[in-house]
Amino acid sequence: MRYVIVGLHAAGRSACAWLRRLRPDASIVGVDPEAMPPYARPLISYVLSGELEPGQLNVEGPDFWDRLGVRVVSERATALDPDKKILTLASGRQEPYDCLLVATGSSPRPAGVQGSAAKEIHYFRTRGHVERILAACRPGGSAAVLGGGLVGFKLTMGLLARGMRVHLLVTSPQPLALNVDERVGAWAAEQLAALPNLALQTCVTAQSMEPEPSGGYRLTLDTGESLTVDLVAAGKGVIPASGWLDGSGLACADGLAVDQRLLTAAPEVYAAGDTAICRDVALGAPRINAIWPLAVEQGRFAAWNMAGQDCPYPGGLAMNSIPLFGRHVVSVGAVNPRLTRGCVSEVAEDRQGRYLKLVFDGSSGRIVGALGLDAAPRLGELTWAVRRGLTRDDIPTHWRRAPLSAAPLAARTEWLAKAAGL
Ligand SMILES: Cc1cc2nc3c(=O)[nH]c(=O)nc-3n(C[C@H](O)[C@H](O)[C@H](O)COP(=O)(O)OP(=O)(O)OC[C@H]3O[C@@H](n4cnc5c(N)ncnc54)[C@H](O)[C@@H]3O)c2cc1C
Repeated sequence: MRYVIVGLHAAGRSACAWLRRLRPDASIVGVDPEAMPPYARPLISYVLSGELEPGQLNVEGPDFWDRLGVRVVSERATALDPDKKILTLASGRQEPYDCLLVATGSSPRPAGVQGSAAKEIHYFRTRGHVERILAACRPGGSAAVLGGGLVGFKLTMGLLARGMRVHLLVTSPQPLALNVDERVGAWAAEQLAALPNLALQTCVTAQSMEPEPSGGYRLTLDTGESLTVDLVAAGKGVIPASGWLDGSGLACADGLAVDQRLLTAAPEVYAAGDTAICRDVALGAPRINAIWPLAVEQGRFAAWNMAGQDCPYPGGLAMNSIPLFGRHVVSVGAVNPRLTRGCVSEVAEDRQGRYLKLVFDGSSGRIVGALGLDAAPRLGELTWAVRRGLTRDDIPTHWRRAPLSAAPLAARTEWLAKAAGL
């Protein structure tokens, strides 16, 4: 049996490790142009902020793939022929396969800025990206960050830590619009606005970027204003890195649709991670949830199925635990206003601003999302509640009405046992 894994980051690496465990004698080929050894992508923000050295990104040693018995081909895949079962690489080389996993993840969404300098916008996804940003930033310099989501936020905090003055330009009315609700978004905006060296502008989009004769760049905004800065970086979300599959017969513009076994529409071609459109547990509909633990989990399920086991994937769920300005935000499932239309929310808040919102489906009463700011119930408990599909009536009143005064551990034990029918 010859397995080919395209993309060797979170999903691909997890799949390789599980395949090797299940199929000790199989041939496994890994294809990825990114430099090895394996590293943890989320940690690049800590390198930008100076909390980690670049060498500390590595999560495995240089001999990892040899030890695992995976032959690595350091090239980009450019085409797939599912009828002939052949993968074509950028050099023209062809890799035949019996069973293939697409784990090519996602790429930064282009910032949509016109102008002759737009190609010099820094994106923030790889080890190479953070190295280039570090080479371009200098204390006392100025930067514009386009995008107020999690990546834009991490870029901003990192550049501030490097002594830069930052203009954070957010298209939405508030930062972190996809991860939190209006209440927590407004609190985050207040905190950002109070930071020295930071200018936050919301409801604004950069339209064009030109070089300045004296150095730096001039950004023109849709408000008509312009800004001159030394560096422009963007965190405007991601798009699935599935364009190389155009021509394969697989519908891939928005990622790869998979069935419960993570199998695509082509026989023996599976997908996992940021490229795979899987069932979302909270929404009950297919969706990409581009987060690390789900990529690892899907890599594992894909490997089990590729190895011949019958392992339906239960579905993914958005979840984030975000340290923000000395406080702790947890967010699970559907919480942003775009995804919660027709839902019913219950909110509890105290004088210290600790806050918990539980979001219930308007018709079934099932909990579909939860958002906490220093709230007593934590990410694991909230995730469990959404994954189990608990309804409003399953959740104890002290969680719903006075969650901040609830004794979390006692409540947890009693409530988990009851909900699990023990
Ligand atoms: C700055 C930052 C911070 C983040 N923080 C968090 C966090 O705190 N928590 C969290 O859960 N998630 C976080 N994420 C998201 C997380 O990193 C991703 O969800 C995860 O890396 C997805 O894994 P993946 O294997 O699906 O894809 P990727 O990590 O994108 O890996 C895909 C691999 O495929 C390769 N590839 C792409 N195209 C081809 C091709 N044509 N041929 C061959 N190989 C190809 C790439 O080189 C890459 O190595 C963060 C991401 C960033 C950028």
